[in-house]
Amino acid sequence: THFGYETVTEGEKRERVAGVFTSVAESYDRMNDLMSFGWHRVWKDHFVASLNPGFSPLTPGPDPRGPQHILDIAGGTGDIAFRMLHTAHVVNANPAVRVTISDINRAMLTVGKQRSTTLPASQQASLSFVEANAENLSQTRPLHPYPSPIEPTTHDAHGNTEQAFFDPATSTASIPSASVDLYTVAFGIRNFSNIPAALREAYRVLKPGGVFACLEFSKADAHPVFNALYKEWSFRAIPLIGQLVAADRDSYQYLVESIERFPSQAEFRDMIVDAGFVVAGDGWEDLTGGVAAIHKGMKP
Ligand code: SAM
Repeated sequence: THFGYETVTEGEKRERVAGVFTSVAESYDRMNDLMSFGWHRVWKDHFVASLNPGFSPLTPGPDPRGPQHILDIAGGTGDIAFRMLHTAHVVNANPAVRVTISDINRAMLTVGKQRSTTLPASQQASLSFVEANAENLSQTRPLHPYPSPIEPTTHDAHGNTEQAFFDPATSTASIPSASVDLYTVAFGIRNFSNIPAALREAYRVLKPGGVFACLEFSKADAHPVFNALYKEWSFRAIPLIGQLVAADRDSYQYLVESIERFPSQAEFRDMIVDAGFVVAGDGWEDLTGGVAAIHKGMKP
């Protein structure tokens, strides 16, 4: 049996997720295209367009409400953050929008940082990278070179690597409460060990009126033939492609199983409401027959 279906502790899950993303970091972008037939690009474009960062309803140019701060959690190799910056700075002509990409995995962030060097200089200047666990945004640190001589090697009594990872000597201050206008998380939250804790942190760091927005794989609920084909594709093809293209069957098997285990659209909406957010209507939008979904909530 694969670890996706075993009962694992939070610490164990965190370490395994770390292993998966460290091993897929280099092939991650190519694999996304192969696994989703390029659909992930369409979903990400739609997600960002629906949030329309930097848009000012009153005047073109800088938003009279002041500079916008977007926190892209589990930002990985930068797909969401780069789209946010493009929409804000270029489409909405609002260069006051800045984005912080945060991820627990230094290998993913390092690929993102490398990719960001092709962005226009003004966008690069509006981007920052921090290492942080989404479940505890009070311990963060700037991205260190990877691999680094200060790689964590010790564990605390609970098998938790973060204590070593976020060594007080190298970690910086908390992401302050009520400091963020828009919190985004795309294809990240299903990997978290403690989703309610991450939602509480999202609530804490958002300003009143700030928006939580999540793009995640969800429960396909379309025609039965489509649902069956989607299951076949996920459980048979994706691990095989992972093996052939990235020589890493296990990591891609984990990704498929983590999608299967993630709550349904309505269950996840209820978790968002439980964290204190206000949702509009159903609270989510299905994409491609529910293969993915966007959930949004506002901090009142
Ligand atoms: N958002 C990017 C995108 O859409 O392309 C990356 C998504 S990638 C599938 C998932 C990311 O979640 C990985 O970079 C992984 O390191 C990160 N992650 C997993 N657990 C995390 C946690 N507890 N806190 C922060 N990031 C986490």
